Amino acid sequence: MTRLLARLLLAFAVVLAAPVFCTALVIVLVEGSSYRMFTLWLSVAQGITALLFIVAWIAVWRGQVVWSRWRRSLTYASVLWSLGVGSTLGLGMAAITNEEEVGIVFAGLFWFVTWIPSTALVWRETARERAARLKTIVVGTVNCPNCGYNMTGLHEARCPECGTQYTLNELFAALQETTGDLEPQATPVSDQ
Ligand SMILES: [Zn+2]
Repeated sequence: MTRLLARLLLAFAVVLAAPVFCTALVIVLVEGSSYRMFTLWLSVAQGITALLFIVAWIAVWRGQVVWSRWRRSLTYASVLWSLGVGSTLGLGMAAITNEEEVGIVFAGLFWFVTWIPSTALVWRETARERAARLKTIVVGTVNCPNCGYNMTGLHEARCPECGTQYTLNELFAALQETTGDLEPQATPVSDQ
């Protein structure tokens, strides 16, 4: 299993654990208190669950995210934004149904479906970050197919030693040839 797959599994477990935790917390808090207090404990349990979920979600994904200053700020903003959207829409539901409990439960659900896509948008790497990351991956040494000169790191596909001009795909093919023993290439599937 790759690390990313393990992380996805962990994220899935966090998502599953949240409603279980919240329900258990409501039961514990409501136990022995009057029904009048029910809506209060329901909101408290949802608030605690939401905050713990935010912490757990960040903990699961932090290693995958480039924490630039603007991304940090946008993450704080998305916490506020999702909580704002959740509470507003929850209040709306409470007004429509005339049931406080329904409003509180929906506030949690609306918050949840706002927070996760927000993090996906904010934490996704930009094209520039991707280019920087790919630069750090060493795929092998590119040698001139004609004279064997090491062309790694050059900004053009022309050999400075023998002057032969290549296209990028010619150099890529040469690279695949040299690294072919290390990593098996996928063989094209024939149409029978
Ligand atoms: Zn050359």
